[in-house]
Amino acid sequence: MIFIDLRDKVDSNALSKYYSILTDKMDDEKKKQIEKWCQDYLRKDNGEPYSFEEVVKADYSELQKLKKQIDDNHLDQYNCFLYNHNKVYKAENKKRKRKKKNENEKKRNSCYIKDTLYNSLSSKNKEAKLLLLKKVGISVCPYCNRNYIFSNENVITCQLDHFFSKEKYPILAVSFFNLIPCCSTCNRLKGTNDFDFYPYDQKNKAIDIMRFSYKPINSDFLRNKNSIIVETTPTEDLYSDQLETLKISKLYELHNDIVFDIIRKSEVFSDVYINSLRTSFPQIFSSSEEVKELLFGVPLSRDDIHKRPLSKLTQDIVFEINEARNDESH
Ligand SMILES: [Zn+2]
Repeated sequence: MIFIDLRDKVDSNALSKYYSILTDKMDDEKKKQIEKWCQDYLRKDNGEPYSFEEVVKADYSELQKLKKQIDDNHLDQYNCFLYNHNKVYKAENKKRKRKKKNENEKKRNSCYIKDTLYNSLSSKNKEAKLLLLKKVGISVCPYCNRNYIFSNENVITCQLDHFFSKEKYPILAVSFFNLIPCCSTCNRLKGTNDFDFYPYDQKNKAIDIMRFSYKPINSDFLRNKNSIIVETTPTEDLYSDQLETLKISKLYELHNDIVFDIIRKSEVFSDVYINSLRTSFPQIFSSSEEVKELLFGVPLSRDDIHKRPLSKLTQDIVFEINEARNDESH
């Protein structure tokens, strides 16, 4: 789990554009119903009602306040208007009497914001989703740091996790900062679980939630990958359950081949050799760090962890090996 620094990336213009794409083609009647619900039930600190636009643009602290209001006042019970209890659906259901009962049930329980409006991000309002992905600008899943989530107008390989579940908080189903681009595995594993780990939390962005290390189980670890065990340690108790939910430890145990390669590369490519490569190819490398990045295949700067899969694992193992060497030399 990796914090993403969104500083300077998402400004008010981007949020306004996202909101306007999302709501431009919306039915006026639906807009009115949603506005009315926000006015009736959602209050800001100063007692003023929220507009739907403010809900869509709400930052993390606002989202937390909105969630609390919904929980405290059991507003999930008052979402009736959000559901598609309209004539169209009733008429459709009549026509489809032969359809299985559970399908009709599903139709009746479908909710305009969480189904129609949210689903439009993958169809007629795809432009809004692409804008969100471009602004957040991450290439790798922030939950696992294992899978690419590349997307452009031709191909979208990522899913959007609802940080606050869209089942319980349908009014937040299209809120920009409630949508976390992630891989399908993490989206499925996280499900509707509430997490303390919020990837865009700017207050905690310098914190490492987990630390990877390795343990050789015998002396054959430079020749046999199965002699290496990858260990994941949570650095904050608060996040242990979430690491468990995402099966981070179990998944990273499967990456012992990567750790095996890192250990062997570190053994073969000494600092002297790396330095000689840097001086031999000044047209390619401006620092020894760049030679190491080419060698290990990932950025070694903490700020760039979200650019390549397994960067966190690689950085931690390289650090561990360096620390062990420093200890030996002292
Ligand atoms: Zn993931």
